[in-house]
Amino acid sequence: MKEKKEYLLPNQNEARKRSLTQVDSEYDMFSLSSLPSIGNGKKYYIRTYGCQANVRDGETMAGMLDCMGFVTTDKEEEADVLIFNTCAVRQAAEERVFGEIGAVKKYKNQDENKIIVMCGCMPQEEVVVERILKHYPQVDLVFGTHNIYRFPELLRQVMEEKKRVIEVYSEEGRVIENLPVRRSTSAKAFVNIMYGCNKFCTYCIVPYTRGKERSRKIEDIVQEVNELKEKGYQEVILLGQNVNAYGKDLGMEDGFTDLLIACAKTDIPRIRFYTSHPRDYSVSTIEAMKNYPNIMKSLHLPVQSGNTEVLKRMNRGYTREMYLDLFDDMKKRIPEITFTTDLIVGFPNETEEQFLDTLSLVDHCQYDMAYSFVYSPRSGTPAANMEDNVSAEVKKERLQRLNEKLAYYANLNNQKYLGKTLKVLCEGASKKNKQVYTGYSEENKLVNFTGPSGLENKIVEVEITAVHSFSLDGKALS
Ligand code: SF4
Repeated sequence: MKEKKEYLLPNQNEARKRSLTQVDSEYDMFSLSSLPSIGNGKKYYIRTYGCQANVRDGETMAGMLDCMGFVTTDKEEEADVLIFNTCAVRQAAEERVFGEIGAVKKYKNQDENKIIVMCGCMPQEEVVVERILKHYPQVDLVFGTHNIYRFPELLRQVMEEKKRVIEVYSEEGRVIENLPVRRSTSAKAFVNIMYGCNKFCTYCIVPYTRGKERSRKIEDIVQEVNELKEKGYQEVILLGQNVNAYGKDLGMEDGFTDLLIACAKTDIPRIRFYTSHPRDYSVSTIEAMKNYPNIMKSLHLPVQSGNTEVLKRMNRGYTREMYLDLFDDMKKRIPEITFTTDLIVGFPNETEEQFLDTLSLVDHCQYDMAYSFVYSPRSGTPAANMEDNVSAEVKKERLQRLNEKLAYYANLNNQKYLGKTLKVLCEGASKKNKQVYTGYSEENKLVNFTGPSGLENKIVEVEITAVHSFSLDGKALS
């Protein structure tokens, strides 16, 4: 393929400087009539990695491709357009993506018209794009997180003008509405409420790859929730890296609470939101959760560490005591609330005593579930330059001790549901066993259950007959 040399490349230094400046968001409408009809008779396959924001971006790309005449396939070898929708949070996952992109070169050798695309967070890093340019000629199109709306035009350039196209913006500040979408589930739907993050935790690459916080307008979000309700969706999941900061960039005083209440008033049966940041919580948000039955009483509240000194070096903006005060206040106001969290062990120079603070915090909070990781440095982040005197063996051993504790509390919490009836949103047949349904309860418990046909996309009363650490079994009562 002929190469276009004027690439638009990412610049992490520019992204870093942006942290000191105010970004004013611009709002634009995507024009469906601008979509080129280039997909007739062609198939696409999207491989998505990472968080729900990426899943939602994958749904937007699928919607655009559908509108251009492409059809989806679940066999990557028969796809004319093969898309790697990547995640930059963990270095090891990035290496896996490079391995997989290396492996699909064989398709290109068989059919030079096959188009390989890399998008998502990884291309927002200079080192990634440099590596693609040097070592992966099979990749035809690279774009980032800020210009997803340009995907149809960029794909057209690759297909019709036979160019290699690399376009990654380092600026951001645009919110584009009216982008097409192909939802990947029919019971629940992801709704972006904001993009980016201003927190700059020292271990995290997200503020560099997704930019500063930009909120969608409340009326656009509520309209989307209403449309989803009309289509029969039972649950919406409001998405942002830091949802509690929603509306700050729009000058709203308590924007997230206002948004939550406006969404609750649509009467969609269930509302959840990810991810919360302990620093930005307001009492009014907790009160809204308590007062509106369709806001689910399950909360993902990442703590990362139970030690104040480590939290300070992570730049999390709260102390152990502040987190515990918030946690206890929520429990007092909403006794039935369930909590999940994120935890990092082995942050640079974490001492045994500091790690024990994390274990004691877990004893206090008794989480229903947690995502726990050994710290892994991300190049380009401040923590990657910190000295670290903790060996890999010690970190591994700490993770094991933490995971044993987490599994103990997960199991303990689940025991109380044995013999109880839970309301479960049925998402369809379980992937592991087609004879049983799977879904999530209001408490966000994964429930596998038996029942008559026709329960898909319905909220079903399920009696719990067995409990495990990370799931429950049951039978439908109706
Ligand atoms: S809050 Fe911290 S960890 Fe979460 S996305 Fe923002 S910078 Fe990353």
